Amino acid sequence: MAPSRSPLTRQSIVDAMTGLLGPHGVETGDEQLKAASVDRFRKYTAVHGIYDGPIPAAIVYPSSTADVAAVLRFAEENLVNVVPRTGRTATEGGLETVVEDSLVVDGSRMNAITSIDPVDMMATTQCGVGLQELEDTLRAQGLTTGHSPQSKPLAQMGGLVATRSIGQFSTLYGGIEDLVVGLEAVFPGGTVTRIKNVPRRAAGPDIRHVIVGSEGALCFITEVTVKLFRYQPENNRYFGFLVDEFADGVAALRELVTAGYRPSVCRVYSPEDARQHFAAFYQGKNVVVLVAEGPKGIADATAEAIGELFAGRPHERVDGALIRRWFENLNWGQDKIDAEKTAMLEHAHLGYTTEVSVSWSRVSELFDAVMSRIRGEFPRAGDLTMLGAHSSHSYQTGTNLYFVYDYTIRCSPREEIEVYHKPLNAIIVEEALRLGGSMVHHHGIGKYRTPWVRQEHGSAYYLLATLKHAFDPRGVMNAGTIFPLEPAAGAGESTS
Ligand SMILES: Cc1cc2nc3c(=O)[nH]c(=O)nc-3n(C[C@H](O)[C@H](O)[C@H](O)COP(=O)(O)OP(=O)(O)OC[C@H]3O[C@@H](n4cnc5c(N)ncnc54)[C@H](O)[C@@H]3O)c2cc1C
Repeated sequence: MAPSRSPLTRQSIVDAMTGLLGPHGVETGDEQLKAASVDRFRKYTAVHGIYDGPIPAAIVYPSSTADVAAVLRFAEENLVNVVPRTGRTATEGGLETVVEDSLVVDGSRMNAITSIDPVDMMATTQCGVGLQELEDTLRAQGLTTGHSPQSKPLAQMGGLVATRSIGQFSTLYGGIEDLVVGLEAVFPGGTVTRIKNVPRRAAGPDIRHVIVGSEGALCFITEVTVKLFRYQPENNRYFGFLVDEFADGVAALRELVTAGYRPSVCRVYSPEDARQHFAAFYQGKNVVVLVAEGPKGIADATAEAIGELFAGRPHERVDGALIRRWFENLNWGQDKIDAEKTAMLEHAHLGYTTEVSVSWSRVSELFDAVMSRIRGEFPRAGDLTMLGAHSSHSYQTGTNLYFVYDYTIRCSPREEIEVYHKPLNAIIVEEALRLGGSMVHHHGIGKYRTPWVRQEHGSAYYLLATLKHAFDPRGVMNAGTIFPLEPAAGAGESTS
């Protein structure tokens, strides 16, 4: 879809926003606007103060659903591109403002926890509530959402739903798509829609899924209702095992999950990846991490099954206390983001990740194919300081692989993405698609996996594209996200 082009001047867009939201609801500071033009996909140029893309006209801060509706009505009428945002932890370019004079609509001031219902086991929040704040509030009442992405200290409910995020306890609780009961969103033109909270229904297709994962390209999510569970950390049992082959670890996860057990955490790290997490004890091996969680009887039964599973396999046991301690420091808050900035500036060194999914029967093939293609084909392989992967979210039919690559940058900051990030990302995406998997497991398509979106969906791309045409006919929502701005050349076009 072609991006919208507003006939309005930048100043008249700002004036209109000031009229709608008041001066406190509109930010036009130079530094803030530049920072709002990118996300973590461009973290290296950003840390060098380089912002080459269009800079938005304003960042606006609605404080109610009515405000969002007014902004979206104005945007559609005047063909102004809207980029929704909340916690700003996006990694795939979803926050990039690729159209001149875009409006960044920031929901973070819509930050009320509207209700916590311990009988119907639901919590409702506005889009700007941080997951950490929600979890802290819930846990004090013996409850939890069960959602725990690594970005929990920063990410907010709107973005978590918009990206189809997933947490570290997903094998037990599911991804956000399993947790959302109902939600409210504003569509282009200002139409407000609330999908009601019911335990289940057969009243047509599940319309929640038009919104969950829409990455700001169809609507603005204003309110979310999620399921609640009892918080029972006292029953948690932590396990770590060292195994010789990555495939051995994957096989163990598969056996456990397909047998019907649901350890909340279910992971295997390749030795390269394990080195950066478990240097003290990994011994150059693959590390399997499992956590049994839930009511005591279930946690104990899961723990027993884990014990039996490994009794029949060669392994070395890791002290569960080490795994628990590692887990407690896994999440990323602002402190880690700041430390990463310092490392990028001082050492011209950074890390990125690409997460894909595939059926159980192809996991090892995918792992081997990616490792050998990158080592053999990537011209800057010598600059890689780490290349590894882990599986961290498992299902009845398969698992994800989360490839991690760190490199020292031996080119100008402007060239980094083309020289390193894009080619590495492309190899992983291509191999996942070749083996029948998905090119993206949980970070979203953003703007940088759009070249393969037609290949990802095949004949079902018709359904996706129709949603865009139906709900955003004037193309004002987050142009270039999920849906390529122009037909992609080369990769991704062959099977569409
Ligand atoms: C260190 C780190 C660790 C991470 N770990 C995980 C992880 O474990 N699991 C995981 O799934 N992801 C992870 N991510 C990715 C990211 O945190 C998630 O995608 C998260 O869901 C984004 O939420 P946010 O509030 O930061 O959204 P933002 O970054 O603000 O936005 C993300 C996308 O959602 C859209 N959006 C935001 N708010 C709205 C809204 N109200 N309505 C409509 N669209 C909206 C934006 O346009 C954008 O496309 C990680 C990221 C980082 C930096």
